[in-house]
Amino acid sequence: MDKNNYNKGNSPIQPADHVGFSSSVNSTPSDSYRNAGSFCGTPGFASGPMNIPPRTPQSVRDEIRRTRHKMELPLYFLLIILGLIAVAVIFFRETQGEGILVELRTAIEEVLTEGVSGLDGTELSAVVGMMILILSLILGVGSLIALFVLMLVQLYQLYADQMSYSIRVSERNFPEIYAKVKEYTWLLHLRKEPEVYVQQMNGQLNAFSAWVPGKTFIQLNAEIVDLAYMEHKDFDPIYFVMAHEMGHIYLHHVQIYYTIWAVLVNFIPLLGTNILLPALSRSREYSADRVAQALTGGVGQEDCMMLLAAGRHAYKYIDTREYLRNITANHNFIERFARWCTNLVASHPITPFRVRAILDPDKKSGRLL
Ligand SMILES: [Zn+2]
Repeated sequence: MDKNNYNKGNSPIQPADHVGFSSSVNSTPSDSYRNAGSFCGTPGFASGPMNIPPRTPQSVRDEIRRTRHKMELPLYFLLIILGLIAVAVIFFRETQGEGILVELRTAIEEVLTEGVSGLDGTELSAVVGMMILILSLILGVGSLIALFVLMLVQLYQLYADQMSYSIRVSERNFPEIYAKVKEYTWLLHLRKEPEVYVQQMNGQLNAFSAWVPGKTFIQLNAEIVDLAYMEHKDFDPIYFVMAHEMGHIYLHHVQIYYTIWAVLVNFIPLLGTNILLPALSRSREYSADRVAQALTGGVGQEDCMMLLAAGRHAYKYIDTREYLRNITANHNFIERFARWCTNLVASHPITPFRVRAILDPDKKSGRLL
């Protein structure tokens, strides 16, 4: 969750963004998650100072069902519909000779006019129109296939990066984190646990989840994992980050069949790419935070947010309520508008909005605008 990645970056297949964490499953049913209970010790019973009610796969699913951001699905379907309309308009313009194919059409007509006898003008126009239609369909379908392949290439690049430069979380390496991966997989009833990798990223605090055919994976930047093993010996924020990423996986934010539709947004310049897509992304972040809350019982959530703002050393010393008070105090209209604009184009809700949503006892949908 490098703050830049975390707060900006609107590519629909960017690592799911997809806490400042990002989000891109399939699998064969595995018994591993069913055994996670014994592996994790006491799944359903959180440890730590907070009094966390027992969690079960059913209770987690019930909680998630109630707390997905109310605008996530409407925005997703709106984007798809607008994207399809935009593609249809482009297609119509091409077939009507108003687009780049007009020259091709003219050239074909000229050739046919010279080379084909026995056709009157109307018949000729119909033939050429049909040819242009077929050509446009081929070009359109071809473009979608090319887009799909390009997305796959990018996803495999991300996965290759894990295989090349990361350490995979396992029973021997980062066993505490591995135990949580299994516990969350069990609680979310995922068919296959995601592969989790740790990679040092030169100081960037970030994490993301992604997908390649047959598996999902999560990268935790080593700078976050340091929290658990260095200064503060603090695992809870890491668990919350990981739970957030698993939320993206659970909600299908990273799978290509979800993200490829979001690519249609590129056919809607400005409104789609700069406004609607970031809004969809922010709603997904709120949803993933709710999943993280359901999985962790909220343990580590405030530290996680303060980690984003204050970094991995000072976050332990921030008073969250005081932080929120100062964020809203003594700002005039123009200043507040400037901040509103910052949030408007951000892929993640600005931190105060996100903190407020996390602390909301009613777990209402977070503020999008
Ligand atoms: Zn996220």
